[in-house]
Amino acid sequence: MIELPTYSGETAIFGLGRSGLSAVAALVAAGNRVVAWDDAEAPRAQAAELGADIRDLTQDFGVAQRLIVSPGVPLTHPAPHKVIAAARAANADIWGDMDLFADAAANAVMQDAVTLIGITGTNGKSTTAALVAHMLEMAGRKTFLGGNIGTPVLELPLQEHAVYVLELSSYQLDLNRRFAADIGVWLNLSPDHLDRHGDMAGYAAAKAQLFADGKAAQARIVCIDDAYGHALAEKLRQDGLPLTTLGAQNADLIYLTNAFQTGGENLSLIDCAALPGAHNAQNAAAAYAVGRALGLSQKQIMAAFQSFAGMAHRLQVIDEYETVKFVNDSKATNVEATRHALAAFDNIYWIAGGRAKADADGQVGLDMLRPYFSNVRGAYLIGEAAQAFAEALADNVPISISGTMDKAVADAAMQAKSDHLDAPVVLLSPACASFDQYDDFEARGAAFVAATADWISSDREMAMNAEGTR
Ligand code: ADP
Repeated sequence: MIELPTYSGETAIFGLGRSGLSAVAALVAAGNRVVAWDDAEAPRAQAAELGADIRDLTQDFGVAQRLIVSPGVPLTHPAPHKVIAAARAANADIWGDMDLFADAAANAVMQDAVTLIGITGTNGKSTTAALVAHMLEMAGRKTFLGGNIGTPVLELPLQEHAVYVLELSSYQLDLNRRFAADIGVWLNLSPDHLDRHGDMAGYAAAKAQLFADGKAAQARIVCIDDAYGHALAEKLRQDGLPLTTLGAQNADLIYLTNAFQTGGENLSLIDCAALPGAHNAQNAAAAYAVGRALGLSQKQIMAAFQSFAGMAHRLQVIDEYETVKFVNDSKATNVEATRHALAAFDNIYWIAGGRAKADADGQVGLDMLRPYFSNVRGAYLIGEAAQAFAEALADNVPISISGTMDKAVADAAMQAKSDHLDAPVVLLSPACASFDQYDDFEARGAAFVAATADWISSDREMAMNAEGTR
């Protein structure tokens, strides 16, 4: 566990998920007075066991001097959460677990002895963070990966000369005032989480905290393809700190499909099986810039890209049956992520739907996907969005309202098999959140994997029976 300071007065913690509970444990271990609350009873009992006092902070905030909130708690939109309003009324500081991590890292010898890498963007954070961590491990650096991915930061050991690769969501950055990465990566920005940030400007401002006040002074790596990244880079250029731009054109690093260019040299990603498509070339180019900023050679970096195993639920080939590939892209929870999936294959049997997210204009729009409809042989729609998606797609793509994952996989696979087209792909890329039918995107991806295995084994059995009766 991480070593935290002993703060003056009482520290309140609201939201006792895994990161909230790890904050309770680390604060209590450092001799802090901690009071905690969560709407659910079970985590309250766990917090009490760890040594926190339990009090409903929304009713009685008391004299706490600071509030640690979990990133899911709204600060501003649609309205500040009750606990946020109470903390503000009590003049308490509002922090996230990243701020506690920053205090621990700033402690004693650690400040100059660790390197913190913060990675943000609407899409590609996890892939880029995992790729950077893999690259550093391969180069023999002591590396820890955490934040919005995997282990909460307060559960990571703090060790000298270690590199911390931290995936940072807009929620975490919105909260954060004390944490400063040494190296910051900004991948892209497209409409997402607007219910929480109000509008695109609010969303962009939350993410831009990564570079505020001279933060990320060692290297600032910014993709300039969208208007927000472009404007950010222009602004950062004035600070005179090291800035590396990436983009599809006119940037220090230019990414293409399965390759990227640096200093006029073309680096191929063809042998990097886990990094298909232009979007992964963007992730790879960003990781490359991090590697160079940390003194890795081009050879070390490219070898790590080749041995990268990729990540579950992100354009992951999970099975191949006869000529049909089954690809799990359950992590595509917004239209922009799905756009890249539809661009990556030619004959797609597309499973989509779930809980749709509104775009910048408040529309549940699939318009951005229109250029790729010609790659789609059929759409198999599930979840709450099925009807709305059917209406949006009807004129362009054959549709089936399948409803459930099992039925969608069976419908899509059957059609893919009988069409006999070249390299058919049954693709789950929902362009929606999963919460209408599943706990999270991982559960949705697991359901797709299970439904695929079931369909393949029953189809195989049917084929064998048919053979037997012949
Ligand atoms: P995040 O952690 O930001 O949600 P992931 O790496 O988990 O990002 O990928 C989420 C989804 O976005 C996946 O469907 C993936 O294929 C797609 N994706 C990955 N990298 C990018 C990128 N650079 N731009 C757009 N989409 C991407």
